[in-house]
Amino acid sequence: MHSQVSIIKCKSYNQLEVYNAIKKAIDFLGGINSFVKKEDKVLIKPNLLSASTPESGIVTHPEFVRAAVRLVKETGAEIFLGDNPSVWGTPEDVEGVYEVSGIKRIAEEEKINLIKLNRSILVNGYALSEYLKMCSCIISLPKFKTHDLMTLTGAIKNLFGMVPGLSKTQLHRQALDSASFAKILVDIYELTKPKLSIIDGIVAMEGDGPAAGGTLRDMNLVLAGSDAVSLDSILALIMGLKPEDILTTKEAKERGLGNAELKDFEIFGENLEDFITPDFKLPQTHFLNKMPKPILKTLKKLVRFYPKIDNDLCKMCEICAKSCPVGAISKRPQNMRIEYNRCIYCFCCQEVCPHAAVKVKKSFFTKIASGIYHVYSHYRLGK
Ligand code: SF4
Ligand code: SF4
Repeated sequence: MHSQVSIIKCKSYNQLEVYNAIKKAIDFLGGINSFVKKEDKVLIKPNLLSASTPESGIVTHPEFVRAAVRLVKETGAEIFLGDNPSVWGTPEDVEGVYEVSGIKRIAEEEKINLIKLNRSILVNGYALSEYLKMCSCIISLPKFKTHDLMTLTGAIKNLFGMVPGLSKTQLHRQALDSASFAKILVDIYELTKPKLSIIDGIVAMEGDGPAAGGTLRDMNLVLAGSDAVSLDSILALIMGLKPEDILTTKEAKERGLGNAELKDFEIFGENLEDFITPDFKLPQTHFLNKMPKPILKTLKKLVRFYPKIDNDLCKMCEICAKSCPVGAISKRPQNMRIEYNRCIYCFCCQEVCPHAAVKVKKSFFTKIASGIYHVYSHYRLGK
């Protein structure tokens, strides 16, 4: 069966323009009433990674969230709005995230329930928010961003927010490489499957995302559909990649959870070709995913990216230390210290640092390997 996807152009976060773009996207798919019924309890789940402003491009923009809320309101369903920020998150942390990201204001103005997803139930061995059972429908609002561990954070990865903060750290500890982490993310997607995903790609993030280390890029894009695998496949194509270059997409496709080939998509709205961006900056780490696994395994200790704290930028706030799944970061009198013999290279510290003080560095052999890879890609693509 074909996966239906809407691609709509939207050039700003102007309230009316975003609403019209999202409405148009959903109307192409049969209208909001084909996804949400009056008697539904709907969880709207944006990407609220950290206490970051709307302009940072790190969180789903509040006007994007408002537009989705208004559309769902038209069905008469009860709405719950919330997310679990990043890999940390006491209830107080979450309040700060809601405040700074502008989501609290949207919930107040739209008079809907702003909830915390911090209480969990166990589903197939995963601690997931109790709202999974309390709500009859999830609408996911991912942000289009690069990700140093997974290359892309899009429709599938957004559901990781259904895992309460501290349980996320346990999952990171279990997954010692990006392929294992992809399996976990796809498990969670399979368990939480949203009825609809609407991706905020109006301002996207490229480079060393998904947080302060990335750079913003106007993509003017709203993407919507019920098959997250097809949506992430389209994002990969837009980034100049093949869908299977994204490990979560590859894993989900192999499990039969959705379509990842263009021939299996029914696209409405704009032409996909108009959004393809061959010079889209990928995270530095991406080339590790392209290396043959046996070579990577052999050179595991040599070919590696690692986090390094820039002491000039570091404000000693300790957020990274709270987030590190293996307790590898500690505060010293003059600086923060990473114990590399404990580090599992998950880049959670880079993801949560509000001051872009955690840099992604290449080991000596990684510099050589990435140089060879870039020459090879250049030659292969005939550029
Ligand atoms: S590296 Fe970033 S998160 Fe860690 S203490 Fe410094 S400023 Fe805070
Ligand atoms: S130091 Fe950073 S990259 Fe290493 S395990 Fe901790 S959070 Fe992950």
